[in-house]
Amino acid sequence: MELPRFRDLHPSARRALEAAYKAAAPHPIYAVGGYVRDLLLGLRTVDIDLVVEGDAITVARRIGAYLNAAVTPHPRFRTARLRLAEGITLDLATARSERYAKPAALPDVRPASLREDLARRDFSINAMAARLGRHRFGPLIDPLGGADDLRRGRIRVLHDGSFIDDPTRIFRAARFEARYRFVFTRSTRRLIKAAVGGRIMTNVAGSRIFTELLLITKESSAPRVIRRLSDLGVLARVHAKLAWPPGVFGLLERVRLVLDRSRSLPLLQSPAPGEAYLLGMFYGLHPKSVASVIRRLDPPPQMTAKLVANLVGCRVTARRLARAVDLRQSRIAPLVDPLSPEARILILAILVRGSRREAVSEYLTNSWRIVPVLRGEDLRRLGFRPGPIYREIFAALRSARLDGQLHTRRDEVSYVLRRFGASLPH
Ligand code: ATP
Ligand code: MG
Repeated sequence: MELPRFRDLHPSARRALEAAYKAAAPHPIYAVGGYVRDLLLGLRTVDIDLVVEGDAITVARRIGAYLNAAVTPHPRFRTARLRLAEGITLDLATARSERYAKPAALPDVRPASLREDLARRDFSINAMAARLGRHRFGPLIDPLGGADDLRRGRIRVLHDGSFIDDPTRIFRAARFEARYRFVFTRSTRRLIKAAVGGRIMTNVAGSRIFTELLLITKESSAPRVIRRLSDLGVLARVHAKLAWPPGVFGLLERVRLVLDRSRSLPLLQSPAPGEAYLLGMFYGLHPKSVASVIRRLDPPPQMTAKLVANLVGCRVTARRLARAVDLRQSRIAPLVDPLSPEARILILAILVRGSRREAVSEYLTNSWRIVPVLRGEDLRRLGFRPGPIYREIFAALRSARLDGQLHTRRDEVSYVLRRFGASLPH
């Protein structure tokens, strides 16, 4: 495991590191955290974490000037973010230490040395650094044994109070465990159990837990992470209603499969995976429990509104589908069309197999693109006066087309005259 040379990196990342070196000089600047971890694993990362022992915002502005990139400063935390070409982000932080005056609350922060900054981090594999040189990284700075744990595939906290200081690290631990297929060291597992067994989870702000849940849903192994957190008893401690029956994990696994497929299906295009998974997690809950869990997790209001609307949409559609006897495509369309991509994904995930699944799947894969060829202009030419009847005619045409009753323009014209001829002005 070695750090690559700058010239072996993506050109945009290489330019960023060279600019960062120049901007900080003569003071040292370091690559740290997840960026160093992923470089050592040979993974391509687009999030570059850097630390300076001076003011990060000043250095960030200088980098921004070199690279002609916008800088977003966060004066409260003395950090700044730059968005660079090709999705690369540069996060710059001032080396700091943290003191947790109250368990599970946000810490007091003060400037510190790089080593202290490494010691305040979550896991040894995320607590390594390398100084930037002009064209390459300096030697690995690894005072806490991160490289050894990385080689052995182990997740280890840096001190016994780590999860008490910040219980959200339990979510991070489960995320890294599944992403890299690593294991917790025995003492880390014991500390997780102890932290969960205590009442610490109840003290964590809902919005912080919600942020962690959303990060989890971005992982390709999201269902596995959620199951793990559930097995560890973490979710039930967050809210009693999050003690899910095992069926939920199968549903989440199917949400994942549908999400994978969604790229090739225009009606499922650009879903927010987080919203699809959250629907899966909440679908089986009583509406009152949903409201209570949402109060606890405190998602942003917009997200709550969308989630609730999607849940209602899914429930209504699922109920109608369950009752439907006639499964022709013309009957499926009005059930699926009003739904958001995320809700459509959940509906597909709920329908495991059978004729209902086939009908919905056929609609989402093929039938959705079937539309009448006649336009408003054609209806005018046939003598229909523009008005609400147009909408009715097009709906009828589409249904008949969907069910294979009409094939040509001529079919459509004679269908319209036959069905709607009576409304023609005399
Ligand atoms: P990812 O690959 O998911 O981005 P990451 O390790 O880069 O993972 P970030 O959230 O980007 O995670 O954070 C960057 C670094 O900041 C981490 O590698 C870790 O060193 C430190 N860090 C982040 N969250 C915490 C936390 N809750 N407690 C301690 N250190 C943290
Ligand atoms: Mg990161």
